[in-house]
Amino acid sequence: MKIELHKPILDLNDRLAAENRSLLDKHGIFVLNLMASPGAGKTSVILKTIELLRDRYHIAVIEGDIAGDIDSQRIREQGIPAVQINTGGACHLDSKMIRKALEFLDMNKLDILLIENVGNLVCPIDFSLGENARAMILSVPEGDDKPIKYPGIFETSSAIILNKTDVMPYFNFDEDAFVASVRLLNPAAMVFPLSTTTGNGVEHWIEWLVAQVESMRLT
Ligand code: MG
Ligand code: ZN
Repeated sequence: MKIELHKPILDLNDRLAAENRSLLDKHGIFVLNLMASPGAGKTSVILKTIELLRDRYHIAVIEGDIAGDIDSQRIREQGIPAVQINTGGACHLDSKMIRKALEFLDMNKLDILLIENVGNLVCPIDFSLGENARAMILSVPEGDDKPIKYPGIFETSSAIILNKTDVMPYFNFDEDAFVASVRLLNPAAMVFPLSTTTGNGVEHWIEWLVAQVESMRLT
């Protein structure tokens, strides 16, 4: 019964996501849906990505949070357009919220749209936003067992960032075991161990993102 109640909502979401997709396609905008737990470093990864790609691409950000606009303020301080969505309790973004947020962005002047989803490893995966790719971030302090406990988000993500590798010595985190359990769920996923604090490994994430943007432009 629960599944029957849930399905019409998801169908509506998918339809609006497809509309978002064609609107964004028309403007040649690459859209990344970035998901993670609270505190994994979504905003830090976005800020680092902006720092390294802002001379090459026009970037904008949509920030999803239950409340507050601290993250979008941090993005705007960098001179980058950012639209804050406050879900007022909902633990994920949906395609209708994105459609609304797009009205506040100049899509003619945009190459990359980074969407920071609400901090949550579970239900954002059920709601397509019209993105070209999904990426997720796991941070070292969260533990290497998360692919076993939350398989869905690892299955749906094309890129998996392992953030805060600089604190690896202080945590009992088995990187090989982590990568092995990711591989079982999603053999095609790219895994990027990095630290936004030290900058180590960030270049591989940036190379991947640039390759995605450029391959979309060729089609
Ligand atoms: Mg954030
Ligand atoms: Zn939710």
